[in-house]
Formats: sequence, structure tokens, C-alpha cells
Amino acid sequence: MTPIDLLINARWIIPIVPEKRIFTDCAIAIHQGRIIALLPQTEAAQRFSATQVENLSDHAVIPGLINAHGHAAMSLMRGFADDKPLHDWLVEDIWPTEKLWLSERFVRDGTELAIAEMIKSGTSCFSDMYFFPEQGAQAALDAQIRCQISFPILDFASNWGSGPEDYFTKGLALHDNFRANPLIRVCFGPHAPYTLSDEPLKKIAILAQEMDKPIQIHLHETVREVDDSLKQFGMRPTQRLMDLGLLSPMTQCVHMTQIDDIDLAILQQSGAQVIHCPESNLKLAAGMCPVDKLLSAGINVALGTDGAASNNDLDMFSEIKTAALLAKAVSGNARALDAHTALRMATLNGAKALGIDDQVGSLEIGKQADIAAIRLSDLNLQPLYNPVAQLVYNGVGHCVSHLWVNGKCLMRERELLTLNEHEIRSKVRHWQEKIQCI
Ligand SMILES: [Zn+2]
Repeated sequence: MTPIDLLINARWIIPIVPEKRIFTDCAIAIHQGRIIALLPQTEAAQRFSATQVENLSDHAVIPGLINAHGHAAMSLMRGFADDKPLHDWLVEDIWPTEKLWLSERFVRDGTELAIAEMIKSGTSCFSDMYFFPEQGAQAALDAQIRCQISFPILDFASNWGSGPEDYFTKGLALHDNFRANPLIRVCFGPHAPYTLSDEPLKKIAILAQEMDKPIQIHLHETVREVDDSLKQFGMRPTQRLMDLGLLSPMTQCVHMTQIDDIDLAILQQSGAQVIHCPESNLKLAAGMCPVDKLLSAGINVALGTDGAASNNDLDMFSEIKTAALLAKAVSGNARALDAHTALRMATLNGAKALGIDDQVGSLEIGKQADIAAIRLSDLNLQPLYNPVAQLVYNGVGHCVSHLWVNGKCLMRERELLTLNEHEIRSKVRHWQEKIQCI
């Protein structure tokens, strides 16, 4: 018998690789944070003696979900301003509120709220782009969740910094602090082409290449963004970023709702990643990303919730369902974005987009044990012919029972183990009282 740390016995295991496979009554063996075997439960019982055994007889086990785009601390502005287009929402509500309240404490408390919600709905890794990113990084580290911190860079000042030079200085210091951390990756987060002039964008392109670090940027979110760029620069934003040297396989383009044939060719040639945020796009009426077309063209498409102020939740299962339904509507083809592919977008495609698919995104031997378990015993999930259909089309975020990151359990039977729910509630209440007094 080989001694190991953890053995997860599950009714169904959906490893993502090999593709479109479901293993029944199998087990995952985990030791020192990594997956060391995936095998029938009977065989596992003979081969391994585990310190901890989880018997999940009504559950599907999948790679932890990867929320590839969001603004975690904006959870404190959930339901604060709704039913407006992006520009009015930003200028009339979000930016003035941020000016008043944004601080280290706001970001720390808001990020904790977001992380708690994400863990409870099966997310083991998230990407964050927000001010005071050192607070976001520390909150993630304390909760032991995996994340990419894209430190923000804009032309104008914010409560966090005075302008691009200040953002570079602070962001690069943060990068150095977390350089050797296995959970937290710090990279560049230029906000959008319309909030940055050419010089800082060029600098980001050079630094990111020298440091071999990803760039995450909002891109082609609305028609207005593309029209304004045509007026101001005589070209579409994608072309402008390409000319500035900013597009490569390390570039994560968030939204991409407006895509013509030239944009598509640019994405293909550059190898850039696309991050689709369907619920935010729908709510802000920003447009619709042609996911099926992008996937058919060989472009990697991952999924993100965007911030809770424009979604209004961070439940990736809800996002997966919306993405699958929207892809069918946009392409006029019910076969577009089948359930397995939709689940892959939220797992392995997410890992690929963030450049960590050698570590996570699938349940393969050698990968880090980032794993979610979902109890599929609720009445509204019966009968159960195909667990993947239930995961994708039945909104099972509230059925997530367990979550592990690097083999460490962050939630067991829906109880958070690295965060205090009671404390989070009281901090959020405090912020609500402050913010609604304006
Ligand atoms: Zn965003």
C-alpha cells in the first residue's frame, strides 16, 4: 500500500482530458498537492492508504473552474447601479463611487466577499483586475485560492496611483513580492485601449515580453469603443494593439463582442486569447462574442464573469449555461458549443488563456489537484442520464460541495475552511451602510 494524502472516490469523474469522457465509480489519488492516479475505486482501495478519504457517491468531480476575468472587490457594488449601458454606468455610477470609497480596506473586504462566493460555486482560480492589487493578492493568498492579478494601468489617476508611471512602479513591486509564489501570478492589466495612450501601451508590450508575463485587457467590448477608435486613430482597437506590439499568445483579450474578418485574422495570427463574459455583455447590452466562429477558427476562448457590479454574480456555472445558450442563439445553430465544450471553456481553456495549462485545467496525472465536487442528488437534477448536461444546463453552482486547490481543501460540505463567512457578512454590511448614505 502506498501512503498518500487524499483519495477522492466519486460517482462520476469528468477529467476534461481525455476529451468528452466520463469515468464512473473511479477515484483520484492526490499526494503533495498533485494528482498521482485516476483509477477504479476497487483498485485504488488496494493500492493506496490515504490520510483523508472523501466518499462522494452522489457527486460529479471536475477540475476547479477558472474565472478568467473579473474585478473581485467590485462585489461591494453588487446591485448598486443596474440597467444602464457601459459608458453611462461607468461615468455616472461606478467611477464616482470608486473615487469616494476606494481604499485598501474596500479592496480587501470586497475581494474576500468575491472569493467566498467563487469558492462556494466551484471556482478554484480567478483572474483579477482592480486597484490596490496588493490587497487582492493578499486576500487570495490568505484564502489559499489560485489567482492571476493583472495590476491596472490607465492614463488617469485613481485612488491607487497618480498615472501610468506610478502604476508601473507599484505593479512591478507587487510582481517582485509574489515572484516565487505558486498560487499568485502578477501580470499586466492595461484597462482598455480607450483609457490608454500609445506610450504606456508600447511600454507594456516591451516589459511583458522581457519578463515573459501575460497581459489582460478589455478589448472590443462595445460598438462605441470601435467607432471612437476609428475616429481618433483611424483604425480599430485590435489593429492598433497589433501595431503597438501588444498582441501575442500571452495577451488575454476580454469581451471581443465586435469582430470583423480582419479582427479574426489578427487574433488568429497573433495567437491571442479571448475571454468571453456573456452575462456582463448581455446586461450592459455591449454586444455578443461570436464564440462558435472563434473556436472554429482555432482561437482559444475562456470564460469570465466580469465584476459583480455588471453580472451580478460570480457563479461560473451560471456563466457556462449562458455561454452555451448564447452561442447557439448567435450562430443560429443548436449544435454550437455543446455541453462538453462549454465545460472545457471554463476549465482547460481558462488555464490555457492564463498560461497555466501545464499545471491545472484538467484532472491529469502530474497536474496540481485543483478540484471541485458537485452533489447531483437534488430533485431538480433527476433523472440523470448525463452528468455533463446537468452541470452545464441546470445551474448547479449552489450544489458545489467541496473545493480543493493544490490538494488543500478550501470548502467541505459547503463549509468554508479558509474564510470566515460570519466576518465577511458583517464587513459587507458595514460597507453597504457607508455606500448607500451617499
Ligand atoms: Zn471587466
